[in-house]
Amino acid sequence: MKFNRKKYDYLIVGAGPYGSIFAHEAAKRGKRSLIIERRSHIGGNMYTHKEHGINVHDYGAHIFHTDNKVVWDYVNQFTEFNNYINQVVANYNGELYNLPFNMNTFYQMWGVKTPKEAAAKIEEQKAKAGISGRPKNLEEQAISLIGTDIYEKLIKGYTEKQWGRKATELPSFIIRRLPVRYTFDNNYFNHRYQGVPVDGYTALFDKMLDSDLIDVETGVDFFSHKEVFLEEFPKIVYTGMIDQFFDYAFGELEYRSVRFESETLKSDNAQGNAVINYTDAKTPFTRVMEWRHFDKKADEGYTILTKEFPQNWDRTKEAYYPVNDEKNSKLFKKYKEETKKYPNVIFGGRLGNYQYYDMDQVFGVALKAVEKEFKDFTMDQK
Ligand code: UDP
Repeated sequence: MKFNRKKYDYLIVGAGPYGSIFAHEAAKRGKRSLIIERRSHIGGNMYTHKEHGINVHDYGAHIFHTDNKVVWDYVNQFTEFNNYINQVVANYNGELYNLPFNMNTFYQMWGVKTPKEAAAKIEEQKAKAGISGRPKNLEEQAISLIGTDIYEKLIKGYTEKQWGRKATELPSFIIRRLPVRYTFDNNYFNHRYQGVPVDGYTALFDKMLDSDLIDVETGVDFFSHKEVFLEEFPKIVYTGMIDQFFDYAFGELEYRSVRFESETLKSDNAQGNAVINYTDAKTPFTRVMEWRHFDKKADEGYTILTKEFPQNWDRTKEAYYPVNDEKNSKLFKKYKEETKKYPNVIFGGRLGNYQYYDMDQVFGVALKAVEKEFKDFTMDQK
């Protein structure tokens, strides 16, 4: 026995939200978990650190938003959330527009002032583009939702940079994440609950994992001793990449990665908003975050800005976005089928389940797994 020295009930691979929730709930029920994490910190991509009094999100802006009261109450037991509402501004070659697509955007784009005028404009552009029937790809979906002008200025460039492929080769569901509204409402999300933790996300994870029944070892790669782990632990919760678990036996699933460049400026307000998207094709980054605006908190005279650059994924980079197109979905199904051979391994989370999850969805699926494992509560909302 090499790793399971303490008679752990669970080995949890990955200290992100899925694994941490599972460990927390297991501990509540008297079960002991060892969490191993390849990186040097807990929290997965939700990890934040504090600098000049500012909570910086190391893996890009994470805004918690949900309609699920069970999930919202759950996450609030660990930490206090502020009332941040995401209101993104788009910069297209120096022209500024409000996002998501709403009456402010339509006014800025066309000068239209009523929902009726906006709808007529969109219908006219849609008809001209010859779009009818079920959209076959992201481009058709976008044009049929908001017309060609907005597609050309606010979607095409951003999307093609973000995903590194043509909008005609991307699944339409990606753009349906963004609301289209015929009201003057700049809230990026439609969900009832929204905010970021007052003390940053890392504090949330510290609290979640604070138990005598949970040990966390960072800097440990599951794959350096995969066979030993599988043999020693009665049950494993695996939240890494599903294709890597099977040594890429059927080929690599595709992911999109991003990288960040940050700078600290002597200023209280450099860009005037938490997030500004650069939607033209030429600017190499997709968005710039100014972290102090998420919390409205920072040491006086300091601000930190982070540019987000999309990049191709390879095995040396962090996998951020699963590319849920047809080809990858088929490949994922093959891997999923293989998981049946491992009844003692629970595959979960964004990478274990190859899903473009928002945080609340990860919380939802993790709690579902807890429900299934312990059978002592239900996630169903009354
Ligand atoms: N999108 C866009 N223009 C924008 C922002 C988003 O075209 O200014 C599209 C783009 O295809 C992106 C998708 O909407 O991949 C989803 O955006 P969201 O902000 O939800 O993505 P995330 O924050 O998960 O990267």
